[in-house]
Amino acid sequence: MTPSSAPAAGPAGRPLHIGMAGAGLSCAVIARELAEQGHRCTLFEKRPHVAGNCHTERDEKSQVMVHIYGPHIFHTDDDEVWALVNRYMRFMPFVNRVKATARGQVFSLPINLHTINQFFGKTFSPAEAEAFITQEQADTSIADPQSFEEQALRFIGRELYETFFRGYTLKQWEVDPKRLPAAILKRLPVRFNYNDNYFFHKHQGMPENGYTEMVEKMLDHPNIEVKLGTPLAPDALAEFDHVFWSGPVDGFYGYDLGRLPYRTLDFQRSEAEGDVQGCAVMNYCDEAVPFTRITEHKHFSPWETHAASVCYTEFSRSCGEADIPYYPVHLTEGDDLLKAYQARAAAEPGVTFVGRLGTYRYMDMDVTIRAALDTARAFLAKH
Ligand SMILES: Cc1cc2nc3c(=O)[nH]c(=O)nc-3n(C[C@H](O)[C@H](O)[C@H](O)COP(=O)(O)OP(=O)(O)OC[C@H]3O[C@@H](n4cnc5c(N)ncnc54)[C@H](O)[C@@H]3O)c2cc1C
Repeated sequence: MTPSSAPAAGPAGRPLHIGMAGAGLSCAVIARELAEQGHRCTLFEKRPHVAGNCHTERDEKSQVMVHIYGPHIFHTDDDEVWALVNRYMRFMPFVNRVKATARGQVFSLPINLHTINQFFGKTFSPAEAEAFITQEQADTSIADPQSFEEQALRFIGRELYETFFRGYTLKQWEVDPKRLPAAILKRLPVRFNYNDNYFFHKHQGMPENGYTEMVEKMLDHPNIEVKLGTPLAPDALAEFDHVFWSGPVDGFYGYDLGRLPYRTLDFQRSEAEGDVQGCAVMNYCDEAVPFTRITEHKHFSPWETHAASVCYTEFSRSCGEADIPYYPVHLTEGDDLLKAYQARAAAEPGVTFVGRLGTYRYMDMDVTIRAALDTARAFLAKH
């Protein structure tokens, strides 16, 4: 969903009073852009903190920086976005190196030369591995992959797919990978060298004092007011010249057409002494293991030293009414409900729907910030 309706017209030159639902990255970036141009922004946040799902908090006992709603790693190719986040917080070097437990062994992800050699018991060179995967493993009869499963079979073949992706994907989405769009796998690279950096992006790092302090600094401006623990209701919109809504788009309409499907996550938190798993992220690929991954949060801040540790074991399930919506569910079949809400949102006067919930899209933080910058600038250009 693109930024929708035109801003409410005020007398030319008068600073506007803007209302915002949410104090996550989307609204924080928009608020700062508008505040710097003289507009007054009031952000309503139903949670007791800013930063939305990126919220981080130091564990009192261990002093480990915990990513409360699941781990967040910043990575981007967008130089302007990278400069923006660094304006508010020093980013420390961090490279995401994911491990995977599957069929009784620990492998390196994304699938790379080490994974291929270990899995097939070989000592392939890069060229040999590429020839082996593309000529002997990949299913080249699939010319135009339509689903996640076809895409995986086309890229890496059945053995690697069933070991690393099928069980994990079933647990994550509770949907047969045949019904998931191929686009999901386009994000998971296969490498014929020993590069085990999970991301391809030019910039990667972690905010030294966490995302919440970064967002607090972004919102620290005389034209910005933040009301924590205060939801914004759709019927309060008349108080503002314009509203940016980063809450769920179906929630704005009281779910009157039905609820858009989401996955939610349950985090089983555990504390221990020492180093629990030796890495930040360990995926569990076997279908028989009920969780998808364990994250050990102190390893997301490798420049810090902590004797104790905090881990999250992550379970994925369908999102109920009282749960936090995490991942929108897009299936290969049509998204009629989404289209109906999108059409209404696009025509909504005086409201712009933004962010991951307002536009019903999975967006990494850098994509969220880019979209917010573009939205704010388009809004300002109309004034
Ligand atoms: C499990 C998980 C892991 C992720 N990991 C990464 C990662 O490693 N790297 C990365 O780049 N990105 C990651 N992301 C994506 C990242 O979380 C998003 O890009 C970012 O949170 C989007 O910000 P937002 O402001 O659009 O939404 P949110 O962070 O959801 O913020 C919206 C805020 O609005 C509030 N709100 C909603 N409705 C109302 C209302 N009516 N009134 C008041 N307040 C309201 C909510 O409480 C929330 O705080 C991850 C996402 C998830 C779900």
